[in-house]
Amino acid sequence: MRTFFITGTDTGIGKTYAMLALGHLLQQAGHNIGVFKPVQSGVGDAEFLKAGLALTDALREINPYFAKEPLSPHLALKRAGVLVTPHGIRRAFDHIAARHEIMLVEGAGGLLVPIEGEYLMADLVRDLDAELIIVARLGLGTINHTLLTVREASRQGIRIAGILFADATGSHKGLAEKTNPDAVRKLCGVPVLGTVPFLKRTDALTVRRSCRRQIDMDVLLAGPSEDTRRLIALDKKYVWHPFTQMKDWVADIPGEPLVIDRGRGSYLMDAAGQKYLDGTSSLWVTVHGHAKRELDDALKAQTDKLAHSTMLGLSNTPAIELAEKLIGIAPRGLAKVFYSDNGSTSVEIALKMSYQYWQNTGRRKKSSIVHLSNSYHGDTLGSVSVGGISLFHEVYRKLIFKTIQLDMPDGYRAPHGKTYPAYAFEAVDRFEVLLKKRHHEIASLVLEPIVQGAAGMIMWPQGILKALAQLCRKYDVLLIADEVATGFGRTGKMFACEHENVTPDFLCVAKGITGGYLPLAATLTTQRIYDGFLFPYRDMKTFFHGHTYTGNPLACAVALANIDLFKKERVLEKMQPKIAFLKRRLEPLQDNLFVGDIRQRGFMVGIELVEDRASKKPFAWQERVGAMVCERARAYGVILRPLGNVIVLMPPLSMSAPELDMLVTAVEKSIADVLGEKRRLSCGY
Ligand SMILES: *Cc1c(COP(=O)(O)O)cnc(C)c1O
Repeated sequence: MRTFFITGTDTGIGKTYAMLALGHLLQQAGHNIGVFKPVQSGVGDAEFLKAGLALTDALREINPYFAKEPLSPHLALKRAGVLVTPHGIRRAFDHIAARHEIMLVEGAGGLLVPIEGEYLMADLVRDLDAELIIVARLGLGTINHTLLTVREASRQGIRIAGILFADATGSHKGLAEKTNPDAVRKLCGVPVLGTVPFLKRTDALTVRRSCRRQIDMDVLLAGPSEDTRRLIALDKKYVWHPFTQMKDWVADIPGEPLVIDRGRGSYLMDAAGQKYLDGTSSLWVTVHGHAKRELDDALKAQTDKLAHSTMLGLSNTPAIELAEKLIGIAPRGLAKVFYSDNGSTSVEIALKMSYQYWQNTGRRKKSSIVHLSNSYHGDTLGSVSVGGISLFHEVYRKLIFKTIQLDMPDGYRAPHGKTYPAYAFEAVDRFEVLLKKRHHEIASLVLEPIVQGAAGMIMWPQGILKALAQLCRKYDVLLIADEVATGFGRTGKMFACEHENVTPDFLCVAKGITGGYLPLAATLTTQRIYDGFLFPYRDMKTFFHGHTYTGNPLACAVALANIDLFKKERVLEKMQPKIAFLKRRLEPLQDNLFVGDIRQRGFMVGIELVEDRASKKPFAWQERVGAMVCERARAYGVILRPLGNVIVLMPPLSMSAPELDMLVTAVEKSIADVLGEKRRLSCGY
């Protein structure tokens, strides 16, 4: 289904005639078209189009909102006592669109005409995910009006299918009329579809005959699917994707790579307009949904001021303001902010600072770093050194520095004869044994508090984090909390450390910090650590580290708006009932024969698939069961990415309960499809 939204550069341009012409040409080409005129005031365009195009839809389906007075719709409808809502328009549209292959939607006046309150035509175009056709007059003044409309549409991320000129008068054509289409084409780079000629009669035969050679329907209909094919070919030719076996990627298999082109709220859309629920927050980053107005505006406003300036030797406004904000929301006791641009670097910075702190302050033997089994802290060599997932880290063993690994139990697989959660606390005992013996050589402990994400959403019972933090305090070992995944509301609190009242010596944040807009990271630390670097320059105790894009003003401006939204929209408060809903909604999955464990903390969920529930025997990794389930979910309109045999759900915090329901339903169906088939095969029938 494709939707074209026909807007004028002004009112009285000949928009309805353009609708009629397009309608006839599309019908002639064999397309089943529908017409939608959401709001109408004054003249009866909807009646005219219904009759002219012989449409069988009821008039009130074509035009749900109507007022007699020839005023701007918001005014006319208000005076007529008609209540218009964006939701109502959307519902009426979905109803009629279900019957047609191509929808032509007619606006009223131009793109910035109000419909109701602050809701403008442009907002409706975005909500309907429509492609825009701009109808412009032929004569004097059109260049200015057309360019203004094109600029505004582009600014709002609306795809423009083309510009259509309308000869509404049929009068003699001067130089302006003859040259304007070409001038506009050159100035704005948008395809010009042609000119709707002056129509003396509006019967089908006349319209088709007089418009056929005037309007280029091939250009109009070429659109997104050809774009997509071209893009996929270029992708396969030039791009190398992360964590991807490119041999599989470039193979010609059905279900070609998806090329994402747009996002709105909880949805991602490919270039052809297909919608998918974003079940992983675009790899764990999206917070308030895609194309969030406040974040868009913050970014645009900052681009008008300054895109980048260095933090080496200079400072910048958004970076300063953000530092204050971050300290304001972080666990009490953190006092300083060091910026970088991704999660791995935020951890490396903490590792280097924790090491150098002891070097600077005279306890040089404290130089080892402890990390946990199953840990993940990023992909650069420093962060791989403290990684505990052999699948990712084994190949690089010879390149990385030596660390001490502390065994951390996986709650789902307690050893025989041991009970969970009690046995999980054995890790705390092991840590104390280690510290007693070697604390004088240990600089820091790095961990992902409460949820070990990349390991497959392994979650710790209440109390472990606190106990580890207390041991660090007792033996003077610095605690690095990597909240790259858990930060910014993921677990139901702003930071996971808050669940157990822990203030680490270093707090590493990235992923959600800009609401999922731009790469930015920060390492927060205490006054004590900061003071450990204050020496005369000649002592060489400066923190010698910095990235080119450190403290980028665009990213910091968006991060500020992101934090403001948490407060303004009471995000954490509104999440709580949705967390409970998600928990209830996941319960029936527990009965599935292949679901071994369902783990949830806030909006972080792991569903572990196993071959045999009694023995907890995992599927062999070569079977790619997790990947197959996630691939299958696309057929149900959901994007997911697994971690081995664990299906991960990481919805944006703004995802609504009905959308969460859709998400879980898609997972249920996908597991049934993939594993039902498997069971049939293994049983031999
Ligand atoms: C994603 C992640 C990282 C790495 O972040 P990048 O921005 O990908 O470098 C580090 N730690 C944790 C806990 C993560 O989830």
